[in-house]
Amino acid sequence: RQAAFRTDLSVLLDQVGTGKESLSFMKRRIRRLAQQWATAANRLDAKLQQRWRDQKKILVHVGFLTEESGDVFSPKVLKGGPLGEMVQWADILTALHVLGHNLKISMSVKELQGFLGVPPGRGSCPLTGPLPFDLIYTDYHGLQQMKQHMGLSLKKHKCHIRVIDTFGTEPAYNHEEYATLHGYRTNWGYWNLNARQYMTMFPHTPDNSFMGFVSEELNETEKRNIQQNKVNNMAVVYGKEASMWKQQGKEGFLQILHKYMEVHGTVYYETQRPPEVPAFVKNHGLLPQHELQQLLRKAKLFIGFGFPYEGPAPLEAIANGCIFLQPKFHPPHSSLNHEFFRGKPTSREVSSQHPYAEQYIGRPHVMTVDYNNSLEFDSAIREIMRTKVEPYLPYEYTCEGMLERVHAYIQHQDFCVPEPPFLPANLSRLSPTGGNRVPGPLFVPLPNSTALGWASNVTAPPAWPPLSSLRLIVSQEGQSCVDACQFAGFICEPAHFRFINNKEALHGLDVQCEVVDSEINHILPAFSVVRRECGLQREPLLFSCAGHSPKYRRLCPCRDFRHGQVALCRDCL
Ligand code: UDP
Repeated sequence: RQAAFRTDLSVLLDQVGTGKESLSFMKRRIRRLAQQWATAANRLDAKLQQRWRDQKKILVHVGFLTEESGDVFSPKVLKGGPLGEMVQWADILTALHVLGHNLKISMSVKELQGFLGVPPGRGSCPLTGPLPFDLIYTDYHGLQQMKQHMGLSLKKHKCHIRVIDTFGTEPAYNHEEYATLHGYRTNWGYWNLNARQYMTMFPHTPDNSFMGFVSEELNETEKRNIQQNKVNNMAVVYGKEASMWKQQGKEGFLQILHKYMEVHGTVYYETQRPPEVPAFVKNHGLLPQHELQQLLRKAKLFIGFGFPYEGPAPLEAIANGCIFLQPKFHPPHSSLNHEFFRGKPTSREVSSQHPYAEQYIGRPHVMTVDYNNSLEFDSAIREIMRTKVEPYLPYEYTCEGMLERVHAYIQHQDFCVPEPPFLPANLSRLSPTGGNRVPGPLFVPLPNSTALGWASNVTAPPAWPPLSSLRLIVSQEGQSCVDACQFAGFICEPAHFRFINNKEALHGLDVQCEVVDSEINHILPAFSVVRRECGLQREPLLFSCAGHSPKYRRLCPCRDFRHGQVALCRDCL
């Protein structure tokens, strides 16, 4: 069946259910953004010009909100606990509903069993018949619950699963045997999924798919009004829980800030001001989302103290015309050196409180400075008071942007058909701009998909993203493909690894190989210049944009991307 866009959200609101603060929060959000979603649906509908879209049967099982996982979030909704996850799930549910799919929502193991048609009871009979859904969106908690309650059949059906995973999972952590043998085993990873089945909150490693969420959008009149009513010396502090104000050395910079600006906070409190919040701060207490937006519309500065990491609030602040000031992390925080990230299935290095804001938005909307340097901090505050900025929201965080991306994933990502290894026809015809003596990344434009065509006796399965988007680049020693592609103005595309994991690609690059081995290692395909050793990847699950190793230069499959929508290549829609 063809999916039709929906602009009425009442059925969805009924489906979400009642009885918990987390559900009420999500419903308030869905209602508040309803008009914005409807406008976006109409725009995307026009843009896709009647293109056929399959209506999918989709189950959304929100594992972290089930009683069975302990549901630690719901009781904290009104107390300053994390809300980012709730924001994202509300938006995912809305996007799937608006795109016109056939949606079932489960928030308990009992409902999960009911929808899957397995008899209730622990670890009982596995699901026997076919899976009654095309897609299942869940999280790590939900995945665990499905394993317990679907037993053996999970393996058979796992290509249909999508895991909402805030901070991301890198391939080396996802491959059970490899993770166990090489020290990448964590409490979360090792599900042997295709890494693109993990969907993140921000575009972290492109090994995963970027799901995202949305932020409030403003029309031109609202934008003008906001700019006229900005209070140049008003700052709002990012951090709704008192403990976030406890960071070391913070007294110093709060004092500096207070020299210039009126400082506001939205810290949760029960009866009196939390001792962590200095007396000069005007604390509003935790605000409902729409009231926070009003406060942000007046404020000039939204300032982070280093925690929480990578949440939605900075995007909302920037969308409401604030400048976001945040600390640079030197050295970067990661699972190797920071408690918060320890045990998370990624080695990603977090260079500031909000790397997306730093790298994808930047000045004048975002300033990332060393908070230990009070001169730098002081001059940043003064610069912010002088600078005029317009409200800004990247397209990928608008409702239309999110609908466009989720639409593309649903129609094109299929992890159930095995991807055959690519048989190169004449990659050797490519001429690199230099040999491996050239220090920078080698840039090899691939002429077109016919030059890269399949051997004539093989039928090519449709590649998505299409092959036309592929650019082969060689990293520096020690550099990951995430960085190598980014440096060249592209993005690493894991789906393209299979096209460059061959001798012909090495040959085309003029790489001198004494041996070409095929091994199981997440930095492959790669080569060592000194040892004249070249290695190809034997385990497709370990194709990794994130991997790097000091002595190896990697072959990187990069692709182009749309301005403001990094998840999609130019010809991806
Ligand atoms: N938020 C809110 N009231 C407040 C402060 C924040 O409703 O007083 C909302 C905010 O609009 C954002 C959400 O909380 O959408 C998550 O914010 P944050 O960036 O702090 O991420 P978290 O750590 O909660 O995941």
